[in-house]
Amino acid sequence: MRIVVVGAGLGGVSAAVGLHRRGHEVTLYERGAELREAGTAVVVMPNGARALNTLGLGDYLHARPMSADHGGLRDRHGRPLLVTDIARAMRTVGPVSAVSRAELHRALRAPFPAELVHTAAPVRRLEQDETGVSVIADDRPVARADAVIVADGIGSKLRGLLFPRHPGLRRIGRMDLRGMLPRPAGLDVTELLAGQLVDRRTGAMFGLWPVGDSDLYWFTDSALCGTPPGAEEARRQMLTLTADWHPVVPAVIEATPPADVYVDPIACLAEPLPSFAIGRIALLGDAAHAMSPDLGQGASQAFEDAAAVTRHLTDAGPADVAQRLRRYDAERRPPTSRLMLAAARQSRLTSLTGGGAWLRDAALRAIPSRLATRALVALWQAD
Ligand SMILES: Cc1cc2nc3c(=O)[nH]c(=O)nc-3n(C[C@H](O)[C@H](O)[C@H](O)COP(=O)(O)OP(=O)(O)OC[C@H]3O[C@@H](n4cnc5c(N)ncnc54)[C@H](O)[C@@H]3O)c2cc1C
Repeated sequence: MRIVVVGAGLGGVSAAVGLHRRGHEVTLYERGAELREAGTAVVVMPNGARALNTLGLGDYLHARPMSADHGGLRDRHGRPLLVTDIARAMRTVGPVSAVSRAELHRALRAPFPAELVHTAAPVRRLEQDETGVSVIADDRPVARADAVIVADGIGSKLRGLLFPRHPGLRRIGRMDLRGMLPRPAGLDVTELLAGQLVDRRTGAMFGLWPVGDSDLYWFTDSALCGTPPGAEEARRQMLTLTADWHPVVPAVIEATPPADVYVDPIACLAEPLPSFAIGRIALLGDAAHAMSPDLGQGASQAFEDAAAVTRHLTDAGPADVAQRLRRYDAERRPPTSRLMLAAARQSRLTSLTGGGAWLRDAALRAIPSRLATRALVALWQAD
């Protein structure tokens, strides 16, 4: 079958490789001038790693399991609120990997033939009829396909065209700031790894993950004011906000050069899409279910989508496409819709301030580590 994948992000390249390896004629259209993933790191959870395994793309992560003992939530001084036994959870469901986004993207796209990739090719429209889909870029048809996989990310324009009545993205009034850096010499970060600190005065959050043995990935979620400030200004505000936190927090932010800091307003779909499939067209990844980053599941869910759409289309012919994509929708929409809600709940929980935050902290302290670890295992097992 002729299949077009729109968008060469983490989800799009995974689906393209999976479908290509199943013998389909796949072409990949990417808006960017080159195939690359910018940014910092990404944490791939065991469910995402399992999905990549089924696509034969698991080797890069296999070689980079994260080593961490305990995670969970802490207060701004680093005192535990909720402790998860990450080592135990990983022994049960498989390793977590925190890796460079750029390197992971390179590893995932490597098996896909370069001559089947069109860069600087923003797809503007899709027109389908009973026999196929015309792919329109630059106001002219550039391809005709039996199936199209839309993987154009959180800001998906095609999603808006396919679902004109859907309310689209909603900003939640918070800012994400993140960076990656070599571990600063002489700074012992071990205690805070694989966990998040929350500040009940401001509702700000800071998370820290190890990337291999030598790098660190940090991310924050806070109500930095106004329209997105530049990275330098956002970094300065975050340093002020965290000045009296556990000393590792401002030290890590300070050690990250402004040029290596990324800032984005946090957004998610206002409500789940009514379907991930319309006829011969299916959506995957953030285009289908952009969620707040609080559960660290965005990329992992995109990998699960890529594995599922590959499986459903494996031995399909042009006449089966619509039915197979309906099955993909039935498999993937319910769990991702639940996760969108869970991520939004988690976002509200970590950003609480005042009395609500005080109650949260008291409640979290009362939860036994065993139960918190079990909840983590359930999250990572779901696929
Ligand atoms: C701050 C932050 C931190 C995150 N941390 C994590 C984490 O730790 N773990 C995790 O699992 N997830 C995380 N995520 C989520 C994760 O990054 C995304 O869910 C994941 O990258 C989605 O992949 P995707 O392929 O759907 O979209 P993307 O990776 O965004 O790719 C979309 C691609 O489509 C291209 N494109 C767009 N429009 C067009 C068009 N019209 N025509 C052609 N090409 C087009 C874009 O250029 C891009 O290459 C985080 C997200 C954010 C914002």
